[in-house]
Amino acid sequence: MQDSYKHKGLRKLLIKELRDKGISNEKVLEAFMEIPRHFFLDLAFLEQAYSNKAFQIGSGQTISHPYTVAFQTSLLEINKNDKILEIGTGSGFQTSILCEMGAKVFSIERHKDLHQKAKKIIHHFNFTPRLSFGDGFAGWPAFAPFDSILVTCGAPFVPEELKKQLKIGGKLVIPLGEGSVQRMKRYIKITETQFEEEDYGDFSFVPMLEDKVK
Ligand code: SAH
Repeated sequence: MQDSYKHKGLRKLLIKELRDKGISNEKVLEAFMEIPRHFFLDLAFLEQAYSNKAFQIGSGQTISHPYTVAFQTSLLEINKNDKILEIGTGSGFQTSILCEMGAKVFSIERHKDLHQKAKKIIHHFNFTPRLSFGDGFAGWPAFAPFDSILVTCGAPFVPEELKKQLKIGGKLVIPLGEGSVQRMKRYIKITETQFEEEDYGDFSFVPMLEDKVK
């Protein structure tokens, strides 16, 4: 796939739209300029790749709205070399944004075909995150603790394992709630058992489901 001047122009317009909607973290916006979102979508959606929309990526799943990706990424307040666990690799777009920002990324996806497809695209950019085909409810204990954990699907509750696998001072960003609308929550780990909870309003995600799908 090609990244043309036209695509770059469309990305600039998208970034302006994100800025107008309140995204102000320059590092996040720079990463959006660098990562061609159209590489992660099926050819049929090529023209609309830079509109602020969610799209089907196969297996009944969607790539999140650019605004949602930008919003969640901003909440992580990433520093270079942060170790970040992502639940829901999906298309690999969010994973690539995190890599572009210098994070060490670990990402889990429960759909095998999406996991494999994302792996190819991400490696095309020469990023080297660790990608796992598995169930995000269990986290990834072998690489814990993480500076941040980002859940990109709507979780019915906060999984205990994810709380455990966070560093003290670390942030867990998670859309919480069953049904079509979730509340965006950020939990900051104060001690092994205490978390500060912040609420960032309504968002809509595909559900976080248990077990993997071959
Ligand atoms: N970050 C993705 C968003 C994809 S949508 C992107 O940028 O495209 C959310 C993804 O979470 C879906 O691909 C879905 O299959 C996955 N998912 C849902 N429950 C999961 C679980 N328990 N473990 C891992 N992945 C899960």
